[in-house]
Amino acid sequence: MVSFDNTEIAFSSKSNSDINRAYLLFKLIGNNSLVNLGKTATQIAIGLHLPIEGMVKATIFKQFCGGTDLKTCDKTIDDLAKFNIGTILNYSAEGNETESDFARAMSEVLSTIDLAHRNPKIPFCVFKVTGIARFDLLAKVSAQAELSEAERKEYEIVEQRVEEICSKASELGVRVFIDAEESWIQQAIDDLATNAMQKHNREKPLIYNTIQMYRSDRLEFLKDAILKAKNENYFLAIKLVRGAYMEKERERASAKNYDSPIHVSKKNTDMDYERALRLLVENSKHVATCAGTHNEKSCQDLIKIMEDHGISKIDTNIYFAQLLGMSDQISYNLASAGYNIAKFVPYGPVKEVIPYLIRRAEENTAMAGQVGRELALIMQEKKRRKSNN
Ligand SMILES: Cc1cc2nc3c(=O)[nH]c(=O)nc-3n(C[C@H](O)[C@H](O)[C@H](O)COP(=O)(O)OP(=O)(O)OC[C@H]3O[C@@H](n4cnc5c(N)ncnc54)[C@H](O)[C@@H]3O)c2cc1C
Repeated sequence: MVSFDNTEIAFSSKSNSDINRAYLLFKLIGNNSLVNLGKTATQIAIGLHLPIEGMVKATIFKQFCGGTDLKTCDKTIDDLAKFNIGTILNYSAEGNETESDFARAMSEVLSTIDLAHRNPKIPFCVFKVTGIARFDLLAKVSAQAELSEAERKEYEIVEQRVEEICSKASELGVRVFIDAEESWIQQAIDDLATNAMQKHNREKPLIYNTIQMYRSDRLEFLKDAILKAKNENYFLAIKLVRGAYMEKERERASAKNYDSPIHVSKKNTDMDYERALRLLVENSKHVATCAGTHNEKSCQDLIKIMEDHGISKIDTNIYFAQLLGMSDQISYNLASAGYNIAKFVPYGPVKEVIPYLIRRAEENTAMAGQVGRELALIMQEKKRRKSNN
């Protein structure tokens, strides 16, 4: 067991003013109407070209982002490394749809791979297939719909882009996560990821697919994936998450009148998450795992399962990961106890990461328990520091 209640360790990297800023932010984020108001006000301000970037940068950006470009992330990378926490740089411009967006995202991902090769403080890179491919094209491929000649060519370019990223990662020995997205484009992503794993994970696990355990079909998917990797003699590598698109999935299923792919309850998602962790660790000779979660029990489960199977804390085939600015009680306490741990560090020009930040605020609002936990820990630490003065 690692205690996640030690706030001295959890906030060891934070100054009093960092803690006060986080307190105010989580207080605001916990208020649904304020988040909605903030979202609308920000969108209007951007539309009117009002100079809000400075304000965003000093507040929510500072909490959740590493910098405006790769160079400005250096400080965050070094600060995390001082506490034995790795950085996963995540270029966070969302809603890419044009060729120039795709080219920009490609170049950022390739640059992060170069940087990770040179800097051991960066244990993984990451990309979203929708950063380099049109969403509607991925939906068509996933639905096995017939593609026009132009679409076929367009998809060949998408396959080439994924291959360019993965072969560069493979040449440089850098590990790369492929994010999971909406279920109706996930088949295409899974196929791209599986092909890349078959090709590049022969000697060691380098390319990771992501599995969302809020989907009721994913445990079977994972079992099949493990079997396939064993039979075909390559390493399966999985980032295990619960899933970020629950509302959208349910709304679409209801609007289009099909059964929602999402579990009927949080309890079922949690049970499948634990079962999946168990399967991954049981097969750790052939499988590498990264548990991407802010759920304390899931982290404790993984610790216990590792112990049950005699797996060392420092086995680099098992990692924990959280987002920058959230759940430091997990990240810093796990790192202090000697586990492999990394933070997702989004970066990008302030304007371009605003949709990501709004999503972060909305997700936190929806997870009332999460905000309550962040606030309780911050208050506990404020009190501890006061009594030590
Ligand atoms: C490092 C990292 C990488 C990530 N990468 C991805 C990614 O590639 N793709 C992606 O989709 N998400 C990704 N996420 C987000 C992740 O999927 C979750 O949305 C988020 O982490 C919250 O889940 P949790 O396990 O941290 O915590 P918890 O608070 O325990 O779980 C909340 C989650 O449980 C599920 N849930 C909540 N209510 C219900 C319900 N009523 N019925 C069924 N399920 C329910 C939802 O998935 C919800 O997000 C990532 C998260 C991290 C930390």
